[in-house]
Amino acid sequence: MIQDFKPKKYEPLYKNIKPCNDDYILCFKNGLVYLINDEIPKISDLKREVSSRYLFSLNDKKYFMSLNELDSQYQDINIYRRFFGGKGYIIMTAYHMYLWYRRNNYCGVCGKALVHSEHERAFICPCCNMLYFPKISPFVIVLIKNTKDDTIVVTKYKKGYSRFALVAGFIEIGETPEEAVIREVKEEVGLDICNIKYYGSQPWGISGGLALGYTCEIKGDSKITLEEDELSIAKFLRRDDNETEVSDEMSLTGTMIKDFRLGKI
Ligand SMILES: [Zn+2]
Repeated sequence: MIQDFKPKKYEPLYKNIKPCNDDYILCFKNGLVYLINDEIPKISDLKREVSSRYLFSLNDKKYFMSLNELDSQYQDINIYRRFFGGKGYIIMTAYHMYLWYRRNNYCGVCGKALVHSEHERAFICPCCNMLYFPKISPFVIVLIKNTKDDTIVVTKYKKGYSRFALVAGFIEIGETPEEAVIREVKEEVGLDICNIKYYGSQPWGISGGLALGYTCEIKGDSKITLEEDELSIAKFLRRDDNETEVSDEMSLTGTMIKDFRLGKI
């Protein structure tokens, strides 16, 4: 998966520091990222001076975020999907932080402009002292097994992502992940399930999320009733079906489907 690479010493804690010429800088613009020959630029690579915010360190290299937009050619943020070995992870993780910073300028209680804490990654309202910490939205991904004919359920969205994926959805307030699994499966494909088991997790910064993967089995009737507002199709996938285009292995979804095809789950 995109977060699995070695060596990996990730240090996310905030530091109130300024960059050196040798440090890296991520420049984003609403769904776009600035790269130079597909590489993340260093401060010294930029043609102009920018204000910046420290994001994190990875393998003792420091990454900052530009607070200014450049007059340069940006690329679609989805380019991160092409990069393994850490680079895709860096872009995705920095983008998660960028989204949070971009969306938190004013206090939601009193409306005053927020200021950054000097000690931690948080905004403080100078008027009412309200604290705002980074937001991570957990969601579940569910591999539903049909043990009667040794298949799994794969689905395709109506809009956006064009390959087959697994049932997925955000955890609602007050729910356990397992309860979200049961609800999402019922909502999206109308199935009752049992034997819910945790598989693994994945930070998913592009949507500000954290994916929690589960496997489960159909309980009773295996007739699919599709939720047609979001999904265009759902079908059963055999282990030997290599024709159906599914998510790639950089994602938790793709990794779970691959493990099913290999007979590991
Ligand atoms: Zn306030």
